[in-house]
Amino acid sequence: MSIKENYQTIKDQLTSDVQLVAVSKTHPVSAIQEVYDLGQRVFGENKVQELMEKYPLLPKDIQWHLIGHLQTNKVKYIAPFIDTIQSVDSQKLLAEINKESGKNERTIKVLLQVKIAAEESKFGLEISEAKDLFQQYIDGGFPHIEITGLMGMATFTDDEQQVRNEFLTLKGLFDELNQLKPLKTLSMGMSDDFPVAIECGANSVRVGSAIFGRRDYSK
Ligand SMILES: *Cc1c(COP(=O)(O)O)cnc(C)c1O
Repeated sequence: MSIKENYQTIKDQLTSDVQLVAVSKTHPVSAIQEVYDLGQRVFGENKVQELMEKYPLLPKDIQWHLIGHLQTNKVKYIAPFIDTIQSVDSQKLLAEINKESGKNERTIKVLLQVKIAAEESKFGLEISEAKDLFQQYIDGGFPHIEITGLMGMATFTDDEQQVRNEFLTLKGLFDELNQLKPLKTLSMGMSDDFPVAIECGANSVRVGSAIFGRRDYSK
């Protein structure tokens, strides 16, 4: 299927209250422009260097989301233009984003990335750490950013019940924090599991290969 058909197929599965983040990592600027021309404005990249190469070549009204692990020393490069950083996994990183956001006289939106998968390798805050950071935010600790929600990745498995349980865990935390201060975004679900994520309460999904095709890391 073509990118256009893929994109339409995904859009047809999303109601208007679910945000689509088109994950364009490893794919060329021409493919991103093609999806942009179909009306998509929110794109996600996972590496700062790749984003910095693509950013100047694409329309300025794209809302860029960073979805991959971010080192504190790279925040300064993206702070002038990034819309949302979905992958905040430490207090140190949050403090740095707050600082750079202030310097640029912006309010960068962030999601706290919470570790819900059983796999060891996944980045993310423990639930208790996420609660602690959110409380610091409510207490005024990070005045130049807005925590708009939570992001999580489920275990890579065929066991749908496990995936569902992990998503529901994050939804539970979302509801709890939302009582303290209203949140907007629950980012869960990728190409293989976004329908389950939406059933579990996601209102933002990060879809890459189902739109752009498989990633070729050899290039
Ligand atoms: C690559 C990536 C995605 C998209 O994955 P697909 O399976 O290609 O849809 C979503 N979220 C994160 C954090 C990613 O790194």
